[in-house]
Amino acid sequence: MSPSPPQPATAESGYITQPVPLENTYTTDTSLQRALKWYLPEATLRSVEPHFTQLGAEAISERVRRWSADAERNQPYVKSHNVWGQRYDYDRLVTTEGWEQLGKWGARHKIVSAGYDSALGLERRTVQYALGLISETDDHWTSGQWMTERAGGSDVHNTETWATYSPLPKPSASDSLGDGDYLINGFKFFSSATDANVALVLAKTPSGKLSTFLAPLRRTIVGSDGVSREISNGVRIHRLKNKLGTKELPTAELELKDMRAHLVGEVDQGVVTIAPLLNVTRIHTFIGSLSGWRRALSIAKSFAKARTTVGEPLWLIPMHLRLLADLEVKHRGGMNLGFFTVAVMSLVENRVTQPSVHTHLPRPGREANVVFRTLTATAKAVISKMAILGIQECQEAMGGVGYMDEADEPEFNISRILRNTSVNSIWEGTTNVLASEMVRFLLKADNMQVFVGWMNRTLALIRTATLRNALSAMWSALRARFSPRTNRLQPFLPMHADPVSMEIARRWILSAEGGVGDMVFHDIVTVQKNASHEDGENHLQWDCRIAWGMELPTNRASGHRSMQSASSKL
Ligand SMILES: Cc1cc2nc3c(=O)[nH]c(=O)nc-3n(C[C@H](O)[C@H](O)[C@H](O)COP(=O)(O)OP(=O)(O)OC[C@H]3O[C@@H](n4cnc5c(N)ncnc54)[C@H](O)[C@@H]3O)c2cc1C
Repeated sequence: MSPSPPQPATAESGYITQPVPLENTYTTDTSLQRALKWYLPEATLRSVEPHFTQLGAEAISERVRRWSADAERNQPYVKSHNVWGQRYDYDRLVTTEGWEQLGKWGARHKIVSAGYDSALGLERRTVQYALGLISETDDHWTSGQWMTERAGGSDVHNTETWATYSPLPKPSASDSLGDGDYLINGFKFFSSATDANVALVLAKTPSGKLSTFLAPLRRTIVGSDGVSREISNGVRIHRLKNKLGTKELPTAELELKDMRAHLVGEVDQGVVTIAPLLNVTRIHTFIGSLSGWRRALSIAKSFAKARTTVGEPLWLIPMHLRLLADLEVKHRGGMNLGFFTVAVMSLVENRVTQPSVHTHLPRPGREANVVFRTLTATAKAVISKMAILGIQECQEAMGGVGYMDEADEPEFNISRILRNTSVNSIWEGTTNVLASEMVRFLLKADNMQVFVGWMNRTLALIRTATLRNALSAMWSALRARFSPRTNRLQPFLPMHADPVSMEIARRWILSAEGGVGDMVFHDIVTVQKNASHEDGENHLQWDCRIAWGMELPTNRASGHRSMQSASSKL
C-alpha cells in the first residue's frame, strides 16, 4: 500500500493548539485555600466559601472577559469642552462600559467593602484580600491618593502644592463635604483614581510642612436660577497618561485651583496621617501581583498541558516541569508572606489585646505594630518584584504565543498581565525606597529588638531541625548586615586585570550578586565561603566604578534627609 500523500497545513487546517480552558480561580488554587484554612476560623471559612467559589467561577466567565477586553480596547479619554466650545462644569472622564461593569462587579462582590464589614469578624481583611486575589481583575480605586508631583514621588517633601486656611462663612455652607475649610492649589503628576469621588491629598501649609486633606472631586452649588448643580471642585484634568500597562485605569495629571478640602488628622502631620492608607495600598498592591502571577501560571500550565514537543507532553518534560515547579514554589512563598502580613494587619487594625491561637503571629500591641510595619514594606517590595520575574517566566513558558498581546482575548494574554503588574514595583514606593524605609524603621528606637524577639520565638516553633537551623543561620547572617560595619578592604584583584571586570566577576561568582542563581542552580550559584562580602564603603566605591566608570565623588548623597549633613549637600 502506498503511503498517504502529505497533507500540507493550510490557514484553517493542520495542527492548532487547544489549551485547556481556565478553571475556577478559587477551587483550583490550593495555595490560597491553604492560607485561608490557616488564618480564617472554620466557621468563617465555611460561611464565605460559597461566595469565593461563585466569584472564582465568574472571574473566568465569558462576561467578565468581555468587560476586560472592552476596557483594554477602548481606553479612557477626557472631554473638557462641548461642541460649541463651552467648558463643562467639570472635566468629563469618558470610560467604557466594560470598565464600569468591572467596577460594579467588584463592588457587588465586596472586593473593597469586605475589609470594613464587621459581620466578617476580625479576619475581614483576610476575606477581602482573598476576594481580591480570586477576582483577578485590574485595579479599581475608590478614593484617590494624590501625593506624587513632578518634583518627586519617593520624596514627597518636594511638594509644590499648598493649602491655605480659608473657611466659608458658615451660614452659606450648603455642601458639607465640598465646603472644606482649606483651599488647595498645586499640580499633581500622577492620579490613578481620576474617576473616584474623593481624594486624599498631601499639601503644604504656610509652615512649609505637609498635611493630609480630604476633598471631593466635585461640589454642589446652587445657581442664580435656584437650581443646584455639580461643578468641579477646582480640579482640572491636564491630561491622561500614556502608559505601558493598566491602560484602562485613567491615570491623570491634575491641576488644582482653589480646591476646597478638609484637614485630616493633625496639621503638619501629613506623612504620619497618610501612613495607614499606605499600608492598605501596599497590601492591595502585592495581592494584585500575587493574583496576576497566579493567573499567568494557570495560563502557562494550561498551555503546557496542551502542547507536545519532540513527541512528548510538555508538562512532563523535566526541564519544563522544573520551571513550573520553581514558579509554584516562589508563588507559594509570596502567598505565605502576603497572607501572614494580612493576618498581622488584622491584629493591628482591630487593636486586638489577646494573643492569637497562631503562636507564630506577633503578640498584640507593640510587637504586632513593629512586625506589621516591617513586613508591609518587605512584602510589597519582594512580592512585586518576584511577580514580575515570575510572570515573565510564564510568558516564556508559552513560547511565541506568550508574547502576543491580543486586547480581544484576555483569557490567555500573559503580556497584558506582565504590563499591568510591572507598575506594582514602582507605585506605593519603589523597591529601593521601601528597602531603605524598612531598614531605617528597624534601626529606630528598639524596633530591631522587638522584631528580633518575635523572629527568634517564631524560629523556635519550627519542628523540623534542618529547616529551623537553616533559617536561623540565614537570620543571623541578615542581622549581622544591619550592624554598622567597618571598612574591610580586602585586596582581591590582581593588578594587571581590568579591575571593574574583576569586581563584576567577584560579585557574580563569589557573592552570587548577578542573580543567575535565582532562577537555576540555587545550590551551586551561591555565596562562596571565601567570598569577602563588602556591603559598606568599598562596595559603594565599586558600585560607582561599575555603574558610572568613575571614582565616587567626595560630596556624597545619602538617600535620606535624616542622614544628610550640611557638608554632604550636593
Ligand atoms: C501608572 C502609575 C500610577 C500612579 N498613580 C499614583 C497615584 O494615584 N497617586 C500618587 O500619589 N502617585 C501615583 N503614582 C506615582 C508613583 O507612586 C511614583 O511614580 C513612585 O512613588 C516613584 O516616584 P517618582 O516617579 O517621582 O520617582 P523618583 O522618586 O524620582 O524615583 C526615581 C528612582 O530613584 C530611586 N530613589 C528615589 N529616592 C531614593 C532614595 N532615597 N534612595 C535610593 N533610591 C531612591 C527610586 O527607587 C527610583 O528608582 C503612579 C505611578 C504610575 C506609574
